[in-house]
Amino acid sequence: MSRIQTSKFHIVDQANFYNLQLTNGETIKHLNAYWVQNQNQKSFVLFYSFSNDGTLELKPGDIAELTYELVGQYVLNENPKQSVPFYQIKSYTKREKDASFQKKIFDFSHTVGNRLNRDINFENQPVVIRVDFNVPLDKHFVVTDRTRIVAAKPTIDFVIENNGRCVILSHLGRPKGAEDQFSLKHIVSQVSQVLERPVRFCEDCVGEKAVEEVQKLPLGEILLMENLRFDQKETMGDLDFAQKLSNLGSVYINDAFGTAHRAHASTTIMAQFFPNKKYFGKLLESEILAIDRILKTGKPPIAIILGGAKVSTKIPILEKMLDIADHIIIGGGMVYTFKKAQGGSIGKSICEDQYLEYCLEILAKAKEKGVHIHLPIDTLAASDFSNDATQKVFLSHQIEKDFEGMDAGPQTVEYFSSIIKQCQTILWNGPIGVFEFSNFAQGTKTIGQTIAEQTKQGAFSLVGGGDSVAAVKQFGLANQMSYVSTGGGAMLESLEGKLLPGIKALLT
Ligand code: AMP
Repeated sequence: MSRIQTSKFHIVDQANFYNLQLTNGETIKHLNAYWVQNQNQKSFVLFYSFSNDGTLELKPGDIAELTYELVGQYVLNENPKQSVPFYQIKSYTKREKDASFQKKIFDFSHTVGNRLNRDINFENQPVVIRVDFNVPLDKHFVVTDRTRIVAAKPTIDFVIENNGRCVILSHLGRPKGAEDQFSLKHIVSQVSQVLERPVRFCEDCVGEKAVEEVQKLPLGEILLMENLRFDQKETMGDLDFAQKLSNLGSVYINDAFGTAHRAHASTTIMAQFFPNKKYFGKLLESEILAIDRILKTGKPPIAIILGGAKVSTKIPILEKMLDIADHIIIGGGMVYTFKKAQGGSIGKSICEDQYLEYCLEILAKAKEKGVHIHLPIDTLAASDFSNDATQKVFLSHQIEKDFEGMDAGPQTVEYFSSIIKQCQTILWNGPIGVFEFSNFAQGTKTIGQTIAEQTKQGAFSLVGGGDSVAAVKQFGLANQMSYVSTGGGAMLESLEGKLLPGIKALLT
């Protein structure tokens, strides 16, 4: 059978895929792609960077006849294992513009029906709430950061105040089976303290005993079920396990933003067992609204500050921000791949040589789109990667060979701050330097303080994804930001413009 096909498609969007892992074990570094939809409204992804004729000039909103060939399968998801075919576009004929075309984006304003912002009477029914109590614990099982428990309180209070009986599901850590150190029993009294309500504990999260405990639960008390990940079926997204979880209640609320990017049994799959009885938790709602204030309703000028160690992990967000931001400020270890790409000397600073060309492409794309990318002027460098190493300030493109860039230099901090002070919407993702070392934390701290000041002046600021959240907490700046996200990967993926599976499951 021929692997070449021809069909008419609507071009819905353009996309870039990086480090695509193929089922035959190979990896493809970068592929350009189109999201397309056929006449029956079925969606496909068609890749084109293999095509002989180089670039295709199709744009979202075009209708085109595409001739494409099945090339292989790539791994969509390791757990549960899922693979997806991928195609190379061989040729195309551009037909026409689709007059009714509207770029498909998730519109949260269409979800009012399943939000918790109005009177709902749960009528004494058990309400299953998936929260994210994956909190850090010290060796005595003391919760060292209670943010995630505090963040779940508004939803739990809402359910109890509206006559629901709260059954709480969560994971903790990455146990391999039922490992005592990952039991949620260790945090019961601390959860109770934060929520200011009695909390019972159930040693199972599915099965007869679990259902019995739910039946015995009085109104006003909370039942915390054992760690979902004691059963591997949770992360496998097992349908049968999800159905068993659904037996715990008659209403489902997802308030676990931190795991909303995973199609696990409790975060996504079980939602289907609650048609018309599934809701966005209040935390999930506020995370989505914060993201919307950047991606959709951000008041210009919009700045994004991208830092952290590597360019490679920030590519999708960088691409997305080219369509959103007026200013992109680049800090952290990412800087040196850009500086080297521009011909600078970066000493022994962290660098991803395979992304040099990509950095130049991004700079060119930004120029084309009128987005200002700001790179550091000077760098505080160190003789080795330690707090007590010898320090020296260099121009960021002239770092001596025995030194490595560790933090933004004084001129850079001033320059970056002057940009931030012009902006009304600010997104911060990734630290400006190695802030974990006190001698190299100043850049990150000052940028944090400048964002806090600008927030006081009325700007909207979102700190999300990665270590910038840890940084604002460390510097005591968290409550001076408009919003600090509780989700790492989930926030990053949302900012890339993806509709997370946990959110999608509440919509359908
Ligand atoms: P990410 O998870 O990508 O946001 O990366 C955060 C990490 O980047 C932090 O642990 C920082 O210490 C690290 N980082 C920031 N600046 C640098 C730098 N100049 N060199 C190496 N690592 C850095």
